[in-house]
Amino acid sequence: MSDLTAADWKLRSSSISLPQHAVIAGRKVPAQAGASFDCRFPGTGQVIAKVAACSSPDVDLAVRSARRAFETTSWASSPAVRRKALLRLAELVAANEEELALLETLNVGKPIQSSLTGDVPAVASCLSWYAEAIDKVYGEVATTESDFTALMIREPVGVVGAIVPWNYPLLMAAWKLGPALAAGNAVILKPAEQSPFSALRLGELALEAGIPPGILNVVPGLGAAAGKALGLHMDVDCIGFTGSTEVGRLFLQYAGLSNIKQVSLELGGKSPQVVLGDCTDLDAAARGICEGIFDNSGQICNAGSRLVVDEAVKEELLSRILQRARALVPADPFDPDSRLGAIVTEQQMDRVLGYVQRGQEEGAELIFGGTRVLTETGGYFVEPTVFDGVRNTMRIAREEIFGPVLSVITVSGVEEAVAVANDTFYGLAAGIWTNNVKTAFRVAKAVRAGVVWVNCFDVGRMSVAFGGVKQSGFGRDKSLHALDKYSYVKSVWLAH
Ligand code: NAD
Repeated sequence: MSDLTAADWKLRSSSISLPQHAVIAGRKVPAQAGASFDCRFPGTGQVIAKVAACSSPDVDLAVRSARRAFETTSWASSPAVRRKALLRLAELVAANEEELALLETLNVGKPIQSSLTGDVPAVASCLSWYAEAIDKVYGEVATTESDFTALMIREPVGVVGAIVPWNYPLLMAAWKLGPALAAGNAVILKPAEQSPFSALRLGELALEAGIPPGILNVVPGLGAAAGKALGLHMDVDCIGFTGSTEVGRLFLQYAGLSNIKQVSLELGGKSPQVVLGDCTDLDAAARGICEGIFDNSGQICNAGSRLVVDEAVKEELLSRILQRARALVPADPFDPDSRLGAIVTEQQMDRVLGYVQRGQEEGAELIFGGTRVLTETGGYFVEPTVFDGVRNTMRIAREEIFGPVLSVITVSGVEEAVAVANDTFYGLAAGIWTNNVKTAFRVAKAVRAGVVWVNCFDVGRMSVAFGGVKQSGFGRDKSLHALDKYSYVKSVWLAH
């Protein structure tokens, strides 16, 4: 990264303009009712912008513009048009990486280094991956009698509503937009109210990239207004949702109450990191465990929030984890050396601290962290936090905290470890740390989760699917599997 200081980054952040308008039908517009909501910088708690609070009439306008663009432009019918425009959009994301990274850090308080070297490049590569993929995906010819030919071809579903959370605002949007746009759909993107800036800027860049007006609309707004209006809209064909299990449930209801639109859900998790008694590389395990729960201040859907550790290696592993936790000091998100930024909002910080208190009341032993720090900044900073002596029945072991809080559960033997790992209503991800390849495969098969990492954690590539089972949702982001969510199979019979 460049050798800019925190002061340099702050100066740059104050010189960029913060997008405040919706992008509908190729135009930047305020909400029709004139309403707006406050956006705060989590590093200071200060209001930094007022953004259009779209509601039902704005969503309706966006859906009509999406439908019109889907039906009247060459977007749906020409993979070459889509490929060219999406590649151009990926280039524009890369060309504007500093601005997008600043917007991301201003909105969610994550370290500038993570926004710049993690989030934004991943967005560009997601968009270009789907742009490159889309003219290489073939249909099928089915086996039938010789007097028929039956084709199974992929059609775009039409108008897609993409609703995303705040923890990785631009990346979660790209995981929806990449496959949905590449498949030929028109999209209405609804960013989280905590973090609309980068999505709005992306909507502007999409126009610059040559994506036809109306093919990508961005409607900022509150969940219960703009999100609900999309969920209930009679002319939205499909919803791609990433967010909490609680709100995911609502989208299933909205679909049932409206036009039975297709829904895919990427939801929360309470992912176990299982360290077995034969694990000898405890340094690697400690690093994976700390990164898995403290990166992005634990605001990660697949955060390894439950450490399920065999008693044989527990003490040694825990001392290495604490050593790493001590070195992770929350700091100004604009400090280029910061590795632990702020929690997104005061409400989310209070939720995290509420769980810290609950854990103590339930009898778990708080062995590190647990407090708000840097209060003089006005920002929402919480220390890395570790609880020992956690039972899997405690609320801190069962509920998604979405903060930097690790719950340590001690077990004896592989069978108990697997039973505890699976004793959760979530099923997003799991980590397994072992030296034995047979045990690795056996446990990877036995754990019910959409993603299992063995002797690593949170590794990802665009070519590998991501998503959950159980109450972590269904459908897959990333890889060619994501195209399934945004297209349908049409069977065409030809008699001859
Ligand atoms: P959230 O469910 O509160 O909000 C997600 C989106 O839904 C936002 O855009 C919000 O405005 C909208 N929304 C909220 N209430 C709504 C309503 N009543 N009707 C319609 N829309 C509504 O989630 P969040 O707090 O933004 O994000 C954190 C959650 O997201 C965590 O549970 C996390 O695990 C999950 N998440 C999952 C993944 C994944 O890939 N599985 C990735 C990132 C985050």
